[in-house]
Amino acid sequence: MTSAVAQTREEQRIERLAGELTERGVDALLVSTPVNVRYLTGFTGSNGLVLLAAGEQADGHRFLTDFRYTTQSAEQVAPVLAREIVTGNLLEAAARTLPGSGGTLGFDDASVTVADHERLRKALAQGWELAPCAGAVERLRAVKDAQEIERMRAAALLADEALRGLLEGGLVGRSERDVAIDLELRMRRLGAESASFPSIVAAGSHGALPHAEPRAEPIARDVLVTIDWGALHEGYCSDCTRTYATGEGLSEQAREIYALVLDAQELGVAAVRAGPTGREVDAVAREAIERAGHGEHFGHGLGHGVGMEIHEGPRLSRTEGERRLLAGNVVTVEPGVYLPGLLGVRIEDLLVVREDGQEVLNGLDKALTVIS
Ligand code: ZN
Ligand code: ZN
Repeated sequence: MTSAVAQTREEQRIERLAGELTERGVDALLVSTPVNVRYLTGFTGSNGLVLLAAGEQADGHRFLTDFRYTTQSAEQVAPVLAREIVTGNLLEAAARTLPGSGGTLGFDDASVTVADHERLRKALAQGWELAPCAGAVERLRAVKDAQEIERMRAAALLADEALRGLLEGGLVGRSERDVAIDLELRMRRLGAESASFPSIVAAGSHGALPHAEPRAEPIARDVLVTIDWGALHEGYCSDCTRTYATGEGLSEQAREIYALVLDAQELGVAAVRAGPTGREVDAVAREAIERAGHGEHFGHGLGHGVGMEIHEGPRLSRTEGERRLLAGNVVTVEPGVYLPGLLGVRIEDLLVVREDGQEVLNGLDKALTVIS
């Protein structure tokens, strides 16, 4: 069917989701997580709620917010949603707008609190019942369209440029904290809204902690430094990790571990395409690390989806990777080997899953590089 007026991408998303609701056995869906509200409507404020009607009842879609967002919501929210400015609690107001005929209201049981669930239950008219519906919007979000991929590529290249500039000033003698702050400032000066998560800068034995917090201590010579950072740009995140040597006098053990992680990372990248499950891709990189006797030193999953949030679906993991990768997923591949009290290496790229392979969005070199 053709239409004279092109749909916005928000309208397309709403139509797809509304079409799925009948299959899920719900008559309406309440979307309350800000990132999901933004994905469906374009609204960037902090207090907004979407009520989608199942099937073809396009006039039944509603957006609710409060008076602070009257102007902003008029500018941002897709016209397919009827806008209502509400005084008081949005959930209670949403419950009041449901038709009197009764039915099933889906809600996000992964994010609605027990208190809000109770509030909602009390506000529902006779004949309405609540049904858990977590993950409905997240599943749509996991497959990116061309514009989303371009935004993520821009975020990744901006983060690359920030790190390149920072490395020109060297690492030895600067504190991990100072490097992390500098990196964030550089990303913001280059146009990022913020860092996509607090940067990790971890030198020497501190690098053995996968989620190390940057310390005030100066970075020593002849050690490894792991830097894990990303930019938030036009609503989308990037995520990348590089590990550098701070001198030619790096230990033989550190060089061996670096070579092992790089090998596993490249095997993992090459395994990414539409078709295999996240668990299968995880296994490709993990087996390389296990063969070298370091399986117990790689305690986290191989990677995760990235998008409007820094961690989203799908997962490349032994424990949560049961879903098959789809073209348009954007995932990280980030194996690591962590030797407690000694050192750590992690190397991470951001990839678009394609039908027959993958495309890496970031561009920094991965060969072991000395930055002193
Ligand atoms: Zn990362
Ligand atoms: Zn990551």
